Amino acid sequence: MTWAASVLTLFPAMFPGPLGQSLAGRALQAGLWSLDVTNIRDFAADRHRTVDDTPFGGGPGMVLRPDIVDAAVHAVADGRPVLCLTPRGRRLTQADARRFAAAPGVILLCGRYEGVDQRVIEARTMDEISIGDYVLSGGELAALVLLDSVVRLLPGVIGAAESALDESFSAGLLEYPQYTRPADWQGRRVPEVLLSGHHAAVAAWRRAEAERITRDRRPDLSAPDLSTPNISTPAAAP
Ligand code: SAH
Repeated sequence: MTWAASVLTLFPAMFPGPLGQSLAGRALQAGLWSLDVTNIRDFAADRHRTVDDTPFGGGPGMVLRPDIVDAAVHAVADGRPVLCLTPRGRRLTQADARRFAAAPGVILLCGRYEGVDQRVIEARTMDEISIGDYVLSGGELAALVLLDSVVRLLPGVIGAAESALDESFSAGLLEYPQYTRPADWQGRRVPEVLLSGHHAAVAAWRRAEAERITRDRRPDLSAPDLSTPNISTPAAAP
């Protein structure tokens, strides 16, 4: 069954955007996933096609009306999770991407202006998701980021299935550094162990590097066995 993404937005021309290219774009063409985009404005009821109004309690900006958003959600709702992109949401993780990839698809609500009336978020039991601690001008780029993280995990999208296995965040670790030809570039040599052809030594070096980098940069990720510093030399020769 095709993994189905539905996007609710005031700017439908932003889709598929970058997801029409490369891996995600080829997978879309091949029918490994589908994308339908709904213009929230089509559900406006008045002559001026109004979708927003001023916030109760005062303050700057405009808020998307719950009745209009609800009608747009209703038009696509079919049991798939409904996600509201918002900086107030829980931060998107690789575990979320895996969970969404395992669902039949997702419905993504892109906010604009000051955001969406909270009552429709609750009434539709939306999952509020943020892509990071910064404020974008709309949910569209956030939706594209989320979709990209999910689509690449769908069966058949990435050629070598293994390449998604030991990449960053998969095991609570950042990935080890990568190298390719030339083996000597401007006097900088690739770590010798990677040229050794000794698979166990390569694996051990990569694991140690992944642990070192994770400890240094993202101690908050801490894979289960990372609690105590690893005193062995990461670049140990085979
Ligand atoms: N007034 C809001 C920000 C609104 S930004 C606040 O201070 O919390 C306008 C829209 O952009 C939001 O409704 C949301 O859909 C989207 N957006 C902005 N930053 C985002 C982020 N970090 N993650 C996900 N969506 C974001």
